[in-house]
Amino acid sequence: MIEFKNVSKWYGDFQVLKNCTTSVAKGEVVVVCGPSGSGKSTLIKTANALEPFQEGEIRIDGVSVGAPGTNLPALRAKIGMVFQHFELFPHLSVLRNLTLAQVKVLKRSQAQAQARARELLQRVGLEEHINKFPGQLSGGQQQRVAIARALAMDPIAMLFDEPTSALDPEMVNEVLDVMVDLAREGMTMMVVTHEMGFARKVADRVVFMDQGQIVEDCTKDEFFGQPEARSERAKHFLSKIL
Ligand code: ADP
Ligand code: MG
Repeated sequence: MIEFKNVSKWYGDFQVLKNCTTSVAKGEVVVVCGPSGSGKSTLIKTANALEPFQEGEIRIDGVSVGAPGTNLPALRAKIGMVFQHFELFPHLSVLRNLTLAQVKVLKRSQAQAQARARELLQRVGLEEHINKFPGQLSGGQQQRVAIARALAMDPIAMLFDEPTSALDPEMVNEVLDVMVDLAREGMTMMVVTHEMGFARKVADRVVFMDQGQIVEDCTKDEFFGQPEARSERAKHFLSKIL
């Protein structure tokens, strides 16, 4: 579903991604972890063309992201993205946050879009907040709205960039629970997170990055169960967060 092949990217002289190769198969959950500044956000942003890259190839469902003729808005509409900061439209109600792109991009009727919005808000446990504004919700609730908003587009895959790292600790689990459900329902997911409990529960594979390189790309069981086989850099990272 998502394929990175020898992807390199520079910011000026600084190489932020170094020959990165990995993939996420349909229905697979891949957790991306690594130290701050290692290139995790940049890697997932290249996947839906929020960041350009200079070398290599990225394919989403077979379509090359960097190729000149690629319809990027159409491609982005197929990939849901949830960031660390919720990035809801602050001046729109929860309902309007969920219906806007469905109507504008997918050309659904208001009635269709609202029905889908209600269904998803129910699924993330927020149907009673449908007419509130983002500022009236807690961080955990806002992040669940952001997930519902992304799902409203019926994405073929979801990208998450540290979705719980800006939340107060007591709100982390309500968001992770929604993500665990999504993973178990078979959603294709690439998740940047340091929540190793989440990784242990639902990840199929773990990608570990350091200094722009993919240092480890292995199954969850290899990552957590065979520490002796891991690189020094991954061991060091794990020793600090586990
Ligand atoms: P991570 O998500 O793993 O913390 P990032 O992908 O955000 O890492 O950043 C990787 C590196 O690229 C960092 O050293 C960061 O300072 C640098 N970087 C990120 N965005 C930019 C930018 N727009 N211009 C220049 N350097 C950047
Ligand atoms: Mg980041």
